[in-house]
Amino acid sequence: MKVNNVSLTISAVSAAQYPDTGYPEIVFVGRSNVGKSSLINKLIDRKSMARTSAVPGKTQTLNFYNIEDLLYFVDVPGYGYAKVSKRDRERFAGMIEEYLSTRKPFRGAVQLVDARHTPSEDDVSMYQYLKYFNVDVLVVGTKVDKTSKAKRQTIMRDIKRTLDLNQTDQLVMFSATTGEGKDAVWDWLEKQTGI
Ligand code: GDP
Repeated sequence: MKVNNVSLTISAVSAAQYPDTGYPEIVFVGRSNVGKSSLINKLIDRKSMARTSAVPGKTQTLNFYNIEDLLYFVDVPGYGYAKVSKRDRERFAGMIEEYLSTRKPFRGAVQLVDARHTPSEDDVSMYQYLKYFNVDVLVVGTKVDKTSKAKRQTIMRDIKRTLDLNQTDQLVMFSATTGEGKDAVWDWLEKQTGI
C-alpha cells in the first residue's frame, strides 16, 4: 500500500477521547527500543511521523494515526522500560486493558520482538495477555538486517516456541533499514481490516 495521507488524530489517555469515525484499528505493541517507531514510519513512508522511544516521565498515551481515512494505527507506549515507576506501569496496564476490552473497531495487534534475541519475559507476557483477549496477532521480528541469513530459520523457530505462537497467528521478519517484510506486514494489515 502506498500511503500519502497520515495524521496524528489524537494522543488519548482514556476511551472518551478515542476517535468516533469507526475506521478499523490495529494496535502496535513492543518493548521500548524494539523498533516500533521505525516500523510504523516505514509502513507509512515517513521519516519521523511516529515519535521514537518513549522517554520515562513522558505522558503515556495511545496515539491514533489516521492512515488515508481508511484505518488507524494505534501506537501503544513501549513496555519493559526498567525505570518506569509502579504508578506509570499501572497506568499503562489500565489504559491498554480499557482499550482491548471495550474497543469495537479494534481488529488486531502487531507485536514487535527483537529478532536478535529470544523474546523476553515481558514479550511473552504481552503475547499471552493479547491471547487472553482473543486478539489476532502478527508478530514482527525487528532489525533482521542485523542477523545472518543462515540463522533465519533458527530465529523464527525460537520466537515461535518462546511465545508459544498460536497456529492462527503469523510471524514476519522485518527490517526498517532494508524494507524487508514491509509488504508482508501490509498484506496482514489489509486482510485484518478488510481495507
Ligand atoms: P521504539 O522505541 O520501539 O520506537 O524504537 P525505534 O524505532 O526508535 O528504534 C530504536 C533503535 O533501533 C534506533 O536506534 C533505530 O535506528 C534502531 N532500529 C530500528 N529498526 C531497525 C532496523 O530494522 N534495523 C536496524 N539496524 N536498526 C533499527
